Amino acid sequence: MRKDFWIRLTAGGLYCEPGDFFIDPWCPVERALITHAHSDHVRKGCKSYFTAEQNILLLRHRLGSASIEGLPWGVRKNVNGVEVSFHPSGHIRGAAQIRLAYRGEVCVITGDYKRHPDPTTTCFEPLRAHVLISESTFGLPMYRWSEPVHVIEEIGRWWATCRAEGKNAILFVYSLGKAQRLLATLPPIGPVYVYDSIAAVNQLYEREGVSLLPWQPLSKWWNKKERYFTPCSSCCSAVQVAI
Ligand SMILES: [Zn+2]
Repeated sequence: MRKDFWIRLTAGGLYCEPGDFFIDPWCPVERALITHAHSDHVRKGCKSYFTAEQNILLLRHRLGSASIEGLPWGVRKNVNGVEVSFHPSGHIRGAAQIRLAYRGEVCVITGDYKRHPDPTTTCFEPLRAHVLISESTFGLPMYRWSEPVHVIEEIGRWWATCRAEGKNAILFVYSLGKAQRLLATLPPIGPVYVYDSIAAVNQLYEREGVSLLPWQPLSKWWNKKERYFTPCSSCCSAVQVAI
């Protein structure tokens, strides 16, 4: 990054000097602009949070009573002379690229993003910029992904096989984003039970009108042999269920 550029990397993360705000800061700060609600992008304890309007419900779920201001997609707001706007990144519901304009120069910070269609959120919006700060861990050439339609078909076949053999079918997924994308994409082939952490997020998505497969909290149906969704961090418990 240019040395005289008006955004710089600091010990607290990306900092916009003229606007006096951080983007997805790594520690509590006065003013934080947030791309999306995944825990590695949100730090508790900031004095105020500024994000896309579509992200408010999820951010509130993570931050409780914190001061959160939202802006509709594409609406521009002046923050200390820096023009700020949020644009869909397609990553999870409410996930935004942040567009900053200052003295005729435009910088876009993508946050996490994906270009595949996803019924749970608004599609990725291509933006023009002089400077692009991108985040693409899984964009490395070593990662090769199948088309989503093929993945869904594969899951459906696997689940049908499990059911025919009288086995539990367990999917490990991120509790925010991936679980809901699957529940919005899979065909209705059987009962679905989810961990409580996923259930809580499901309710938020449904409150915003996202249509998911019918689901029930796993805690109520622990001994049923059906299809389960569990968060990645629950591997140990989930394996016990499978046995
Ligand atoms: Zn993310």
